[in-house]
Amino acid sequence: MSRVYNFSAGPAVLPEEVLKEAAAEMLDYRGTGMSVMEMSHRSKAYQQIIDEAEADLRQLMNIPDNYKVLFLQGGASQQFAAIPMNLMKNKVADYIITGQWAKKAYQEAKLYGTANAIASSADKTFSYIPDCSDLPISENADYVYICENNTIYGTKFHQLPNTKGKDLVADVSSCFLSEPVDVTKYGMIYGGVQKNIGPAGVVICIIREDLITEDVLPGTPTMLRYKTHADAKSLYNTPPAYGIYICGKVFKWLLKQGGLEAMKAYNEKKAKILYDFLDESKLFKGTVEKKDRSLMNVPFVTGSEELDAKFVKEAAAAGFVNLKGHRTVGGMRASIYNAMPIEGVEKLVAFMAAFEEANK
Ligand SMILES: *Cc1c(COP(=O)(O)O)cnc(C)c1O
Repeated sequence: MSRVYNFSAGPAVLPEEVLKEAAAEMLDYRGTGMSVMEMSHRSKAYQQIIDEAEADLRQLMNIPDNYKVLFLQGGASQQFAAIPMNLMKNKVADYIITGQWAKKAYQEAKLYGTANAIASSADKTFSYIPDCSDLPISENADYVYICENNTIYGTKFHQLPNTKGKDLVADVSSCFLSEPVDVTKYGMIYGGVQKNIGPAGVVICIIREDLITEDVLPGTPTMLRYKTHADAKSLYNTPPAYGIYICGKVFKWLLKQGGLEAMKAYNEKKAKILYDFLDESKLFKGTVEKKDRSLMNVPFVTGSEELDAKFVKEAAAAGFVNLKGHRTVGGMRASIYNAMPIEGVEKLVAFMAAFEEANK
């Protein structure tokens, strides 16, 4: 067996320990004589899996009792529609456009009401987070929307926008569980799990209870109503059962690492190794404003498309895979999620230094 260092933006690296545990339980999950993939989602064994997953997530994120945790399907992209359908009571919402995912959410919201782009960093290819301390928040906005960590561009809101009392809705797909969060600052936090938590197919929504009502836009499908899933505790229909089981294992792994404070310290240490190198290098350069750098996704370039391609190819041959930047931006991107060990980053930087030396 040989594992590579996988810098994919998503689906992405998972803790080896978790994968081994899942492998060991594959044929016979704890005496049930079957795999979790094969069991009824109404069984006792499965109920325990999903209950523990929720309890562990609540512990990790310190989620208050007046927030519901939903394990849903359809990826983060499905929420781009579900959010306005459920939350746009006045049919008005404000969007901060810091990259493609925020833009997609904004465009989808426009199908359901008035979505206002109240700030954007499109003028500099999304290489920074705009000043959000005094934005023209709409008086009747139902919520203010952000993509908290911009997976493609490598920026992160290190300070949440001043929403002037409106509920904040945040897509945290690529920074989920990477550091502690104050859940009470949000009306809703959600993310696809395939970046930092588990297998694609699960999206986790954490929503303040009073936002979950029957008062949704006309025509909202039953399956897209938060109330449907909140009332049924994520078991209205067959949930993405195996995916939730793996997420649960990752939650336990994170608790064992010391929780989100410890992950933050570890992630900062990892990211610093790479950013420090980029700041010193004469060949490689980071592409975003330093104050807005993401701890999870680190884009960089050499300035030459040819050299970029050569680097990506040689890196892959050396066991550092999926370093090619997003197809829309080019260059390179190293995603260094929770499960990327620090050795992976150290070795990548050593490889980059050797590449720089060889291509002077
Ligand atoms: C990957 C990603 C998405 C899209 O996720 P899907 O599960 O593929 O729909 C949305 N937002 C962010 C921030 C992402 O990184």
